[in-house]
Amino acid sequence: MNVQEAKLRFSGADKAGEQFIPDRSSFPQRTAAVAAAAAAEAEDVDRVARFPQKALDTARQQRLLGVQIPQQFGGDGASISDITDMCYTLGRACSSTAMIFAMHQTKVACLVRHGAGSGYHEALMRRVASEQMLLASSTTEGQNGGNIRFSTAAVEHAGTGISLVRNATVISYGAQADGIVTIARRANDAAGSDQVLLAITKDDYTLERSLGWETLGMRGTCSAGFELKFSGSVDQIFPEAYDKIHAQTMTPVAHLCWSSAWAGIAAAAVERAQLFIRKAARGSGGQMPPGAAHFTAARMTLAKLRAMITAGLDTYEAREHDERALSSLDFQSSINLLKVEASELAVETVMSAMRACGLSGYRSDGDFSVGRHLRDVLSAPIMINNDRILSNIATASLMSAVPATLRD
Ligand SMILES: Cc1cc2nc3c(=O)[nH]c(=O)nc-3n(C[C@H](O)[C@H](O)[C@H](O)COP(=O)(O)OP(=O)(O)OC[C@H]3O[C@@H](n4cnc5c(N)ncnc54)[C@H](O)[C@@H]3O)c2cc1C
Repeated sequence: MNVQEAKLRFSGADKAGEQFIPDRSSFPQRTAAVAAAAAAEAEDVDRVARFPQKALDTARQQRLLGVQIPQQFGGDGASISDITDMCYTLGRACSSTAMIFAMHQTKVACLVRHGAGSGYHEALMRRVASEQMLLASSTTEGQNGGNIRFSTAAVEHAGTGISLVRNATVISYGAQADGIVTIARRANDAAGSDQVLLAITKDDYTLERSLGWETLGMRGTCSAGFELKFSGSVDQIFPEAYDKIHAQTMTPVAHLCWSSAWAGIAAAAVERAQLFIRKAARGSGGQMPPGAAHFTAARMTLAKLRAMITAGLDTYEAREHDERALSSLDFQSSINLLKVEASELAVETVMSAMRACGLSGYRSDGDFSVGRHLRDVLSAPIMINNDRILSNIATASLMSAVPATLRD
């Protein structure tokens, strides 16, 4: 089977055009079980900055780590909409669990879309489904921040063997992952932007810790820095160049999954504000407390945020199998702007929820505290810095026409 045939096969349609429809009915229940485990340990995970082990154990029991793998390889063939729903539900329970799940699923999406037809990557898909492997991401390197489209470390080639040494300043759950999907310069003589993507598993790399993760929020992602040393086979390099994978899968899926996790955090804060306002109104004979307007504002921005994500999902799903449409300036701008706007709206929503609750929201204890949500959601605008994204798409924005109709 060649790469094109494989893509068709795993795109949801076979040659006769028949659709494979996964059984989605179990997804909400399975996700709820993970969310319950995540919620139970969320405060401790945040307090001591530890990995949400019970939540991830439950995700494995519920076989959610391989849920996106096509049925042919042992998964459930979950769609991007299924995955983003899961990210939202988990975000309401524990931000770090949701973000770990979102990052893992982004890597799995690359494997599913760009690994089909490659023996190594198909075998890895089977392993993710059967062993419920957790995949981490390594894009940040040295002082390069969110400049993902430039790599310093290069793949060294020796026959069919390859090696890589990478100053990976941030790898979320690097110590707990079973594998890493990483970018690298194609070869020693390649330009920084001539990149490949590699899928490596923990039996063929070592991690030496170089930086800790003592942060304001998202403490359970355990996003420490490491020196990554890998040695393996050339087959581990994805067949397609990274620039394609970046445009078609890495960026859209990351932005949709991250935004859904942030929307979940925002929804959890709104829920606390609602409980607070209800309690305050009950305590004063039905009279609305002065902070009620902030609660309404929180509801409003949450509605906007959810609408924006679902519109982004519709846009992506409509183009999912059209490489040209995915690479178009319009789509790339809109999927990048989704990340910028969703992250800002999520922060705004949690801020409004905190102001609705007043001191009860500002406190770190009590039923109405939104301190953890606020600290966690503040990571959103810097997770690939919004300033960097906005300056990167400034030229593209100038080139695309202003829409003539509402639904253009
Ligand atoms: C919770 C969390 C988990 C993460 N997990 C991972 C992971 O698993 N793997 C991984 O590889 N990375 C991970 N990262 C890192 C992430 O991918 C980015 O590298 C990081 O968020 C960039 O942060 P930065 O703002 O310091 O970097 P930069 O983008 O370098 O920004 C630094 C500063 O420069 C400014 N700036 C940058 N570019 C511009 C510009 N063009 N115009 C104007 N100002 C600019 C920014 O505003 C900022 O003040 C994670 C980050 C977070 C927050």
